[in-house]
Amino acid sequence: MLKTSKKYTRTKKLLKADLTKKSSRWKYKTRYIDIKKYFAMINELVFDNKLSPFNKVYLKQMRNGTMGQVITYDWERRGTREYELHMLPFYEDKQEFANTLAHEMVHLYQMANQGDTGNHNALFYSYRTKLNRIGLDL
Ligand SMILES: [Zn+2]
Repeated sequence: MLKTSKKYTRTKKLLKADLTKKSSRWKYKTRYIDIKKYFAMINELVFDNKLSPFNKVYLKQMRNGTMGQVITYDWERRGTREYELHMLPFYEDKQEFANTLAHEMVHLYQMANQGDTGNHNALFYSYRTKLNRIGLDL
């Protein structure tokens, strides 16, 4: 369903304004505060604020050109699962950072909210339209 509430439109404008600033085309150094800010905007625009934050967030280099990943930890005795987000310390620009975070948030939603494997399956790609609508891509 197409959401066109005032709040949705305002957040979408904020996101677009931030991504089209001149400085957003420069090499981007990842900041925890930006992860928090973008998480909140994407959560509102794509996931209806239904996504709980990652349990832990780390900035680190990853192998084989990996841009970001979600690691899960199962606490069998407690029957709970934790989700850890890994992001690179640097991205080519802010857009690449935002796309990567959105990509990992789709994985989180698949696993935490939809009980899915979190693979790159049809469910995963079904979010492309919603992301494209706000200027992001998977
Ligand atoms: Zn992925």
